[in-house]
Amino acid sequence: MSVQERTYIMVKPDGVQRGLVGNIISRFEQRGFKLIALKLVHATPEHLEKHYADLKGKPFFPGLIKYMASGPVVAMVWQGLDAVKTGRVMLGATNPLASAPGTIRGDFALAVGRNICHGSDAVESAEKEIQLWFPEGVVQYTNDNEKWIFE
Ligand code: UDP
Ligand code: MG
Repeated sequence: MSVQERTYIMVKPDGVQRGLVGNIISRFEQRGFKLIALKLVHATPEHLEKHYADLKGKPFFPGLIKYMASGPVVAMVWQGLDAVKTGRVMLGATNPLASAPGTIRGDFALAVGRNICHGSDAVESAEKEIQLWFPEGVVQYTNDNEKWIFE
């Protein structure tokens, strides 16, 4: 766990279509995380197959790739204390029906195949996903708020 920990968060095509980008960004901003990369991208199936390589072979894999390639996504990197685990808590459970109200999926989604957002599940996968989506690198800058967020 570190103040410099980074996680890859993505608003999926349904989240973009439903106008939830601003709300999702606001939650990470308000919590105190620092935005260090952001772009809107309509990903190819090949790129998404790399992102979800661990799930290749699952029965839902073809449908997942089709869904994720159906429109643009918002790709982001957020940095801060325990960013990976806290990001997952903010997203809620994979199945929105099991997500607590107050989480992103628990507030905005019902179906596992339309769960509007992605978040890395471990520091190692976060670093892999950041490299895959932002091969150009992230943006380094000082945020003067940090002294009010961290001890
Ligand atoms: N998914 C699905 N059906 C399932 C399990 C997963 O459609 O039974 C989709 C869902 O969109 C999920 C994504 O595949 O977010 C990746 O699955 P994973 O187990 O990695 O869940 P996540 O890390 O997104 O919570
Ligand atoms: Mg996952």
